[in-house]
Amino acid sequence: MLLYIHVPFCRSRCAYCSFYSSALSRGDEGRIQKYQDTLIAEIALWADRLGKERVETVFFGGGTPSLLSASAVALILTRIDRAFSLAGNAEISFEANPESFIASGYARDLRAAGITRLSLGVQSLNDAFLQRMGRVHSAKEAALAMQRARQAHFSSISVDCMWGLPGQKPDDWKRELKELSSLQPDHFSCYGLTLEETTPLAEAVRGGLALPSEQDQAAMYLEGIAYLESLGYLQYEISNFARKGFRCRHNLGYWQGREYLGLGPSAVSTIQNRRWSNIPDLAAWSEAVHNRALPEDIEELDRKARVLEYIMLRLRTTRGLSVKAYRKLTGRNFLKDNHIFLQALHNEDLIRIRGGFIQLTHTGMLVSNAIVARLFEAVEERLSDTEREKKVPA
Ligand code: SF4
Repeated sequence: MLLYIHVPFCRSRCAYCSFYSSALSRGDEGRIQKYQDTLIAEIALWADRLGKERVETVFFGGGTPSLLSASAVALILTRIDRAFSLAGNAEISFEANPESFIASGYARDLRAAGITRLSLGVQSLNDAFLQRMGRVHSAKEAALAMQRARQAHFSSISVDCMWGLPGQKPDDWKRELKELSSLQPDHFSCYGLTLEETTPLAEAVRGGLALPSEQDQAAMYLEGIAYLESLGYLQYEISNFARKGFRCRHNLGYWQGREYLGLGPSAVSTIQNRRWSNIPDLAAWSEAVHNRALPEDIEELDRKARVLEYIMLRLRTTRGLSVKAYRKLTGRNFLKDNHIFLQALHNEDLIRIRGGFIQLTHTGMLVSNAIVARLFEAVEERLSDTEREKKVPA
């Protein structure tokens, strides 16, 4: 099982973000303490419900996990190990933001607490872009955080960065990547900016703030991939690149459809084909945990939902969609069912078919949402046909 822990605090809210978190103010230590106590209660609650499941990866995400003290992280990991069974070689990832990571000794203490993989939210090494996006750290702090991480000897260090920012040009992005790679991370997560409806950034764009043109965005994505791959960071998912041996096992688990338990407000879980979300509110989540309340609105993932998710997740990865696995899941031949559309995609150099896997090309990844949406329509129809055929009496 994969375990995700959502830490719902940030120093301040970034202009583009829609994740659940609240900005901390002075004297908020009590809120953090309450969160930690509730999280520990939630770990015990789920261990009672699920038994001593083997946990292969833990991912502290958020929000800003680096607002927790290293001793709190150590305690949480001890409780996870006690309640479940933490694999000896478990990957334990931790998202950190530069401004809350550079305090003397923090990186070393996190490493001693058991964190193996650090994911540093650098986002950009350009102070003007950082400010525009509402980030509270500077490029200098990001470089210092990276230095601290290296000195603490994490097994793997990843850098999160963003492209497609307002005012950004392909040359700016190339310069960014060059500077970021000089920090020598083991892994890159490079996300294209997506506008979330309710964010201040979306409001600013509605008010006239210009985003890069589609052509410039395509150039940033494709040239970024080429540059990272030339340095030995191989793409393994639409937005993720790693040196050999440094892929994120936790995120790979999501894309491979593994079961995961999410703890903390707003965290999502998928276990035994059932999916639910914790309440995205610190106080309400805390009350629910202390009342030992089961999550409401549990979604049963029927066969159709599982098949569509399989298509969507596997096409995100460079390994791609296995025709054999698809047949096992559906009893149908993916190539035959979709041959006209697949042929058109192939002619446009948007997919390749290799060793029984259908893979998006780099250009295909740029338009993956549109490709997946078309496949969903076709596959839903086929699956409904199969259901109908099954119901027809012989
Ligand atoms: S620090 Fe991360 S989680 Fe917090 S507001 Fe910014 S992007 Fe969102």
